[in-house]
Amino acid sequence: MIVGVTQLAYLVASALFIFALHWMNTPPTARKGVYAGVAATTIAVIFTWAQPTVTHHVWIVLAILAGFVVGVPLSRVPLTAVPQRTALSHAFGGAAAGLVGTAEYYLGVSEGPEHLTTFRMVALIAEILLGYLTLTGSLMAAGKLQEVTWVPQRPVTYPGQNVTNLSLFGLALALAAAITLHPTAPWAPLLFPVIIGLALLFGVLLIIPIGGADMPTVIAILNSYAGLSAVAMGFALDNKLLITAGALDGSSGLILAIIMCKAMNRSFTNVLFGAFGQVQQAKGAGAENVYKSETPEGAAQVLEQASLVVLIPGYGMAVAQAQHKVRELYDQLKKRGITVKFAIHPVAGRMPGHMNVLLAEADIPYTDLVEMDEINPDMPQVDVALVVGANDVVNPAARTDKSSPIYGMPIIDADKARAVFAIKRSKNPGFAGIDNELYFSDRTWMLFGDAKSVIGELVKQLAGGSGMH
Ligand code: NDP
Repeated sequence: MIVGVTQLAYLVASALFIFALHWMNTPPTARKGVYAGVAATTIAVIFTWAQPTVTHHVWIVLAILAGFVVGVPLSRVPLTAVPQRTALSHAFGGAAAGLVGTAEYYLGVSEGPEHLTTFRMVALIAEILLGYLTLTGSLMAAGKLQEVTWVPQRPVTYPGQNVTNLSLFGLALALAAAITLHPTAPWAPLLFPVIIGLALLFGVLLIIPIGGADMPTVIAILNSYAGLSAVAMGFALDNKLLITAGALDGSSGLILAIIMCKAMNRSFTNVLFGAFGQVQQAKGAGAENVYKSETPEGAAQVLEQASLVVLIPGYGMAVAQAQHKVRELYDQLKKRGITVKFAIHPVAGRMPGHMNVLLAEADIPYTDLVEMDEINPDMPQVDVALVVGANDVVNPAARTDKSSPIYGMPIIDADKARAVFAIKRSKNPGFAGIDNELYFSDRTWMLFGDAKSVIGELVKQLAGGSGMH
């Protein structure tokens, strides 16, 4: 009876997980998606806990409390720190899978060889390899994104790196094969920690050659590894819900990584082995690179005369938390009968959907958010392109300069607008560490300053101005 009820609950939870992912597809249903995911996880925990075979209740309560102690502060991080927060979640997921796999193996050794069939051993080995490498790989990724001092930001490369890494992984697989065939041999329990050590080391070595710029993509890949380790854990524990949830996690992580690679025009192998993100020497710094600055007063006058304005938000808008001021500017321009659109680049900011989330927070209608491919053909008709803390995603070098690290990445064609105002604090480059020729163009005027205060000034000018035209 209890088995039937549990299986039914697992089925409901699986359906909820699938709906959760589906509802995440669009901003209006995303919140529902989060609730569905939380409900599915709660059902999974409660019905697994209710199994008669589960006994150590005090330990379970302690584990749940520990989860709260870690999880609640993690949920309070600012939006700009979400990529590293996500990496930490994957690290915990990997650690959980690794630890469960380790416990299951030693339990099996003490219970006898019939508990460690070849099938179960393959599942356990896959679980611990993927789990432990996800643990250290994700910790390294989080450290790079958080710019922790002892984690090198730049890609660390040396000759023969890929061969060394693959040999190490090959060695781990060979030891794993030996232990799978003889799981209860006297040497096997001693060899098991060696495999764990190799997986932990491999996680570190896998991440060090990858630059900070590729970390969010790597996190999506690590997400899929964590999902796969959960699938293996599901097979090892004979738990169908874990298999389903892990497969959903694994495949969605992989799909996200592919989408991100496409948006940056990078191949998967290039992300994993390309050592992208090595800081380049800013090229062409010289006489021709002259910035023209403009005051908010001057910019406001030009904005007032426009009939089509496109705002291009980027990471700087997130840093400045300027989205509410941007909303005020949007209102001021709309009041004057000006058409205002937001051009959304798929990798603007530091995570997919970053700009959408911020603009939704400021209640900007989704209908005025236009994807890059849709807005680019209209850019030559745009009177003013207002770049709000974006840099790489509007860098024309991506179209023209073959030697640029962002060459081939699709960009928003801000440079084709009739006039461009660009808000940023300094002459510093963006994430890829390269100069942006858009800022030196005849049609571009810089509005130097923090995005929130510059937009605030623009709003003040427009609000104090004569109004309708
Ligand atoms: P960038 O990081 O290229 O540029 C952001 C700009 O904002 C900087 O030049 C900075 O200039 C400016 N800025 C920072 N703080 C402020 C502030 N308070 N006020 C005003 N300006 C500010 O961002 P983009 O969004 O253009 O591009 C995203 C980059 O991140 C791309 O290279 C993309 O590939 C990468 N990336 C994004 C991922 C995603 O999923 N979204 C994933 C992986 C990588 P200054 O310091 O002078 O103010």
